[in-house]
Amino acid sequence: MADSTPTNPFITRGGAPGRFTAIGECMVEMAPAGSSGQFQMGFAGDTYNTAWYLKQIRPEWALRYVTRVGTDAASGAMLAQMSEAKIETHHIGQSAERSVGLYLISLNDGERSFSYWRDQSAARQLADDPAALAASVADSDVIYFSGITLGILTPKARETLLETLAAARAAGKTTAFDSNLRPRLWGSETEMCDAVMHAAAVSDIVLPSYDDEASYFGDESIDATRDRYLKVGATTVVVKNGPGTVHYAHNGKLGEVSPPPVGEVVDTTAAGDSFNAGFFAGIAGAAPIEAAITLGCQVSGQVIGQRGALVPLDHDKLAKKP
Ligand code: ADP
Repeated sequence: MADSTPTNPFITRGGAPGRFTAIGECMVEMAPAGSSGQFQMGFAGDTYNTAWYLKQIRPEWALRYVTRVGTDAASGAMLAQMSEAKIETHHIGQSAERSVGLYLISLNDGERSFSYWRDQSAARQLADDPAALAASVADSDVIYFSGITLGILTPKARETLLETLAAARAAGKTTAFDSNLRPRLWGSETEMCDAVMHAAAVSDIVLPSYDDEASYFGDESIDATRDRYLKVGATTVVVKNGPGTVHYAHNGKLGEVSPPPVGEVVDTTAAGDSFNAGFFAGIAGAAPIEAAITLGCQVSGQVIGQRGALVPLDHDKLAKKP
């Protein structure tokens, strides 16, 4: 098949505003600020970061976030930040007895480490109501989720989510998945790897990162990662590799793209999440996949040059969107 062969409504919209729904967990972020013991509160989380960056790059698109929060002040502040970023929140459920998860960043000699409080977060209930979940994706062109989205759910809720995505895909929507392997969220590595492959089997687009895939799946090469996901039915697989060459498969075509040079690497938080946003922004309109990958690299290249998960982008330095 030719590179530009349309496979789904997302790619065939020809640049028309898309409707993109991301599903997952956004958390309170406490980042060291000023003198010792002081922290700045923010909000971040892998799929949310991608939605946030995509809205910056494609402001004309309708961006929706699907999760669950509490009814407390911190949850309200999170919803307010999402609304301020022009991300739709009306499919976000609320649980009176729970709140949002939280992570705290510690700095030791310049090295960042993370502590999490998310075991009881409301987001863990995001797929407990199958009808509400189906309604939240019903009018979407693209539905995006990750290995972290899966990892916070009970096995039953995970099944509900994957069934919902399979039905959406069968109805012609594009499903997109970043495997984002986080063994800490799972009972065992085997459980994580099994669930990730099930998720990939209901996904059109899979966006893994090679170093983690090699660690947990034992892939001996970046192409082994790509081929493993192709085998279960994805039409597009883009394997990120830190500063290394990105390898892709897209509608039967295989290729590689070298990330353009970046300046000083300050903080790699959200590198993959922001890459995905640039990639989604670029792939719409049947643009060559190489251009979409380059846009992903340019966005992540800017993000890793600044401290924090959500940072402002210099739009003049991004390639013109197709
Ligand atoms: P993840 O954050 O999911 O582990 P990667 O580390 O593979 O993702 O990075 C995603 C993208 O971010 C890469 O494809 C590349 O464009 C950019 N990137 C990440 N780390 C670096 C780096 N050290 N130098 C240059 N680019 C990088």
